Amino acid sequence: MLDWLIVGGGVHGTHLFLALTQGARQNVAVLDPEAEPLAQFWRCVAACGMGRLRSPAVHHLDLEPWSLVDLAEERAEPSALAPPYGRPSVALFRAHCEGLVAHSGLRDRWIRGRATRIVPGPDRVLVQSTAGPLQARRVALALGMGEQLSIPRWALAAPRSDRLRHLYEPAFDPGRISAGDRVLVVGLGIGGVHLALSCAERAKVTLASRHPLERSWFDSDPGWLGPKNMRGFAAETDWTRRRDQISQARKRGSVPPDLAAALREQIRAGRIERLSVEPERALPGEGGVGVVLGGELRVFEHVVLATGFVQSRPGGALVDELVQRHGLPVAPCGYPIVGPDLAWHPRIACTGALAELELGPTARNISGARKAAVRLVEASLQATG
Ligand SMILES: Cc1cc2nc3c(=O)[nH]c(=O)nc-3n(C[C@H](O)[C@H](O)[C@H](O)COP(=O)(O)OP(=O)(O)OC[C@H]3O[C@@H](n4cnc5c(N)ncnc54)[C@H](O)[C@@H]3O)c2cc1C
Repeated sequence: MLDWLIVGGGVHGTHLFLALTQGARQNVAVLDPEAEPLAQFWRCVAACGMGRLRSPAVHHLDLEPWSLVDLAEERAEPSALAPPYGRPSVALFRAHCEGLVAHSGLRDRWIRGRATRIVPGPDRVLVQSTAGPLQARRVALALGMGEQLSIPRWALAAPRSDRLRHLYEPAFDPGRISAGDRVLVVGLGIGGVHLALSCAERAKVTLASRHPLERSWFDSDPGWLGPKNMRGFAAETDWTRRRDQISQARKRGSVPPDLAAALREQIRAGRIERLSVEPERALPGEGGVGVVLGGELRVFEHVVLATGFVQSRPGGALVDELVQRHGLPVAPCGYPIVGPDLAWHPRIACTGALAELELGPTARNISGARKAAVRLVEASLQATG
């Protein structure tokens, strides 16, 4: 029987696999419908054309803190780490991840399938999946937000069209945007800004959002990475107040100042049109999509929704059943109440978004994956030691 089954092989599941299998001879497998580890993350990165991570060089998937910096030096690519904070290029970060995956044996422990039901028992957990039933002493949920795309109401009401896509839906292919195409990007967060900049050379880009551009190097204050802010968060016993702290701390929709400057430059040069309006309606059009913007009907060859993810509890019916049928505790916001060891049940633990009421505003990020793995390895050693 498996010691651990990690459900989800994205950023969090991959890092947790590396942490659980290092040194200790744990029998760990990862279950994920994707063909490859990290596939969803790479898809999002490629979709928006991001060239550089937002997080610093010490936030990566290896256990050795300086290994990404070492790799940049080895490859004689110091410019692959950009000031401030040594933010890695996507090429460097990807090479680093690929090296880790290749050496870890993760591909041999990868079960391609989707978990459809989780049944906790006294000495094991049964996981029903599209790859068949699986059993493990413990299960870690590393599901991410990637499957709950936020689609604005006006777009939901629009007739289906392959020219109106969410930036992060698997069917969106930026390669289909041709020279001279008119492209409407809706949303001014990091994904929308990256996409607008990456298309501006060849296409006529309009960037629409009611919200002003917010600038920040990080998506939450670095104080949340350590005790400065986390001490007060951990001392808070009211789950609604913890949720409020997370919501206030997150700089949702903000972009790093260098990206904001690049956007400003393109707007000033007339290569990107910036509209401070929300689309009102979308209609089918000849070879494109008609969109009502500020009362005016405009036609675009492509409309891309860079509107992020729905913020409610991830995991859909799989997680709903753990709450409704097995009584696993949740806060008023619907998210799991997990212990300091990230256990939601003696045999089911969480990482990523599902663990954020314990790990705070950085839970979903790479730094959150690192924090979660430390706690889960420690709990695992205590359980087996
Ligand atoms: C474009 C972009 C750039 C980002 N840049 C940064 C950055 O620079 N620094 C940073 O710290 N963070 C960044 N983030 C945020 C964060 O690190 C990523 O979103 C990260 O992918 C979250 O990891 P995850 O493992 O929770 O989710 P994912 O990487 O999405 O992985 C979740 C996995 O779970 C699987 N899954 C879902 N349901 C099931 C099921 N029922 N059964 C089995 N498997 C299932 C999915 O197939 C998927 O592979 C970025 C996010 C985006 C979108």
